[in-house]
Amino acid sequence: MQAEAAGRKPIRSLDDALDYCQTLGMRLSKQRRFILELLWQEKEHLSAREIYDRLNQQGKDIGHTSVYQNLEALSVQGVIECVERSDGRLYGNISDPHSHVNCLDTQQILDVHIELPEELLRQVEAQTGVRITNYSIDFYGYRSAQPAPDAQSQA
Ligand SMILES: [Zn+2]
Repeated sequence: MQAEAAGRKPIRSLDDALDYCQTLGMRLSKQRRFILELLWQEKEHLSAREIYDRLNQQGKDIGHTSVYQNLEALSVQGVIECVERSDGRLYGNISDPHSHVNCLDTQQILDVHIELPEELLRQVEAQTGVRITNYSIDFYGYRSAQPAPDAQSQA
């Protein structure tokens, strides 16, 4: 299962996600589709609670337990992303390795696919003796322009 997951092509759309579930032999219940549709629609990192609330706002018939169980099954199989936060788990639509931009003012997490220069990866390998096969970076910053420290003291 692990080797299969490593060699598979990345999921880049809702259709890819549905196809991948079928390849895995996962049953595509109505509820499971609702969750995948929502994640690909919103393209955010959402808690199980938020996913439940949004689906219910859309009038989708899905129970609390079903949301939790389906999120668990989908993330274990690598169909969706699961981010562990100190205040709980968040789920996202992108499951292949990617980096995150964490907005400190809005608490949003934005997905980015970036490639580090080969030279930098070689440096990391030289420093650690570990052959790098994958990476994911957490960036932190503010969406709105923050006043520079000395501009603040002058005000
Ligand atoms: Zn993500």
